[in-house]
Amino acid sequence: MTHDVVIVGAGPAGLACARMLARGGLKVLVLERKPHPGPKVCAGGITGSGLINRIPGSLEERRFHRQYIFTPQQQTCLSSTKPMIATVNRENLGRHMAEAAAAAGAEIVTSAQVKRIDDGKIFFTVEDRDREEKAEFRFLVGADGSASLVRRYLRLPTAHLGIGINYQIPRTLTEMEWHLAPSLFRNGYGWIFPHRDTTSVGAYADAAVMKAGDLHRSLRTWAASRGIALDGTRQRAGFVNFDYRGWNFGTVFLAGDAAGLASGLTGEGISPAIISGEAIGRYILHQGSDLADLQRLIRINNLHRRTVLLTGRNRLLTALIAETVVLALRLGLLNFTQLEMSHQPSR
Ligand SMILES: Cc1cc2nc3c(=O)[nH]c(=O)nc-3n(C[C@H](O)[C@H](O)[C@H](O)COP(=O)(O)OP(=O)(O)OC[C@H]3O[C@@H](n4cnc5c(N)ncnc54)[C@H](O)[C@@H]3O)c2cc1C
Repeated sequence: MTHDVVIVGAGPAGLACARMLARGGLKVLVLERKPHPGPKVCAGGITGSGLINRIPGSLEERRFHRQYIFTPQQQTCLSSTKPMIATVNRENLGRHMAEAAAAAGAEIVTSAQVKRIDDGKIFFTVEDRDREEKAEFRFLVGADGSASLVRRYLRLPTAHLGIGINYQIPRTLTEMEWHLAPSLFRNGYGWIFPHRDTTSVGAYADAAVMKAGDLHRSLRTWAASRGIALDGTRQRAGFVNFDYRGWNFGTVFLAGDAAGLASGLTGEGISPAIISGEAIGRYILHQGSDLADLQRLIRINNLHRRTVLLTGRNRLLTALIAETVVLALRLGLLNFTQLEMSHQPSR
């Protein structure tokens, strides 16, 4: 079978791209190794300048007009009349995005694991089918996450990864909280992101600075100090790729985590996935299309990566930068939206 575009991965990047391309009239095949699109280790936080205004309200678990940030020396409550941040359930978001892509005409094959790519052809296996299958493409989009096979096919190394650990506890906590505690999380942070009936409690750090085991121990120590019981809930961990090295490789493209477009600073990756997936879709349809939002995202990704690499060098610097950033937020010299991946500077 021949397709205009084959997309590997039905995460937010792949599905946003598929919808755009199918709406433009192209024959699109999405291959997803999971039995259905959506499930992903994630805290489900979506920011004010990111997704909040782009998804139906029914998909939001909770929305917040205020959030708390803690450091060892200070704490601040940031508030706004407009919602600053919300949480989504990744399974529901995945289902919604898959339905939209399919309604636009994209074909999504699940339980389909891509094995290799060779000269305009992609080889994959589908559960319950006994033979390896093959699809031919004019364009290939790698939207296959932080351990992307398409990225490896392009021989791009991945030197900068963040690691996140999440516990989805069966209890609703009230407030959205970020805890910058360098002695525990180095240049990362611990979070409390309440959902409708559960709460995501977790921690994120640069994988070059903290090993998964140390981050996990710190997370448990911190949760215990706040009286949050984690026992009985399964911990799940995952990588976030912030090592951006390009998106356009001729007839092969990379979107979202596969491209390394997540934030190294906060681990925010849902908005970057959707922005880059849509931009690549537009570019394949019309090569002269407007890429301003993708270019802005690449600039923010670069700024966040440089900040992470700088703060990772020593603990004192990390602590100093964390206190300075929170002080600037408290004094109104910095706006929280300026830390978001889809931030649009006002002209
Ligand atoms: C613990 C944790 C918490 C996080 N919290 C947040 C948060 O609160 N907010 C936020 O914005 N971001 C968060 N992120 C980051 C966010 O989850 C990712 O950046 C985002 O999912 C990237 O989207 P994507 O579409 O690029 O990749 P993914 O969502 O990873 O999707 C890739 C898809 O490709 C499929 N795939 C992979 N390989 C193959 C293959 N060979 N064949 C077929 N299919 C394949 C996978 O099954 C998957 O469905 C978090 C990450 C972690 C680890």
